Amino acid sequence: MNPQFTQLTLRAELQSALSKAGFSRMTPIQLQSLPELLAGKDVVAQAKTGSGKTLAFSLAMLQSLVVQASHIQGLILVPTRELANQVAEEVRKLAKDLGNVKVLTICGGEPIGPQISSLEHGAHVVVGTPGRVEEHLFKGTLDLTQVSHFTLDEADQMLEMGFVDAIENIAVYLPPARQTMMFSATYPKDIEQLSARFMQSPILVKGETETL
Ligand code: ADP
Ligand code: MG
Repeated sequence: MNPQFTQLTLRAELQSALSKAGFSRMTPIQLQSLPELLAGKDVVAQAKTGSGKTLAFSLAMLQSLVVQASHIQGLILVPTRELANQVAEEVRKLAKDLGNVKVLTICGGEPIGPQISSLEHGAHVVVGTPGRVEEHLFKGTLDLTQVSHFTLDEADQMLEMGFVDAIENIAVYLPPARQTMMFSATYPKDIEQLSARFMQSPILVKGETETL
């Protein structure tokens, strides 16, 4: 059986959230990625759908989140609005014991006005789709200058959907001193090339891969 989360050096508020959610043992991808992530390394993680990737990048991000500071500290890019909502919910659940952590979803296919007002009120974490995040950056309505944790979730799907230019443009607005995490169900050549451009000496970890 895999080791338990209690073996990781996680803040007490995250340990309590994990036990309330009923998570005790790490999945293989969590076991392999979390020690590297908690050590601050850039990680490319490949593991099949349903292997618990969301929890891995969310814990790494929340471990160093400062609730008293209201600037955006985590940016998570995802391919679809549905996934943005799911990821945001999981982050909110894990962050519950940390205090009032504000998690905003910023996705296309929704009016931009309410997003601008929400952003003006401050957020700790933004989960969004690349096109709309890029649009806010071009308009000057999103400040990513203090992001410490940048995650690309379902990176293979984002590339397939043609988001590579948007991702490139977004990365320009991020501080170089950050942790970058890339999660993907598959590891095609273009993911490897993308990781080389955005990440610093990334560590590649593989959980259970898709059986073809
Ligand atoms: P992926 O992004 O790899 O497709 P998810 O992060 O969506 O997978 O996780 C799939 C499901 O597994 C979710 O319902 C999640 O809550 C659950 N899960 C994640 N980690 C664990 C764990 N360590 N123990 C039990 N369930 C877990
Ligand atoms: Mg996922």
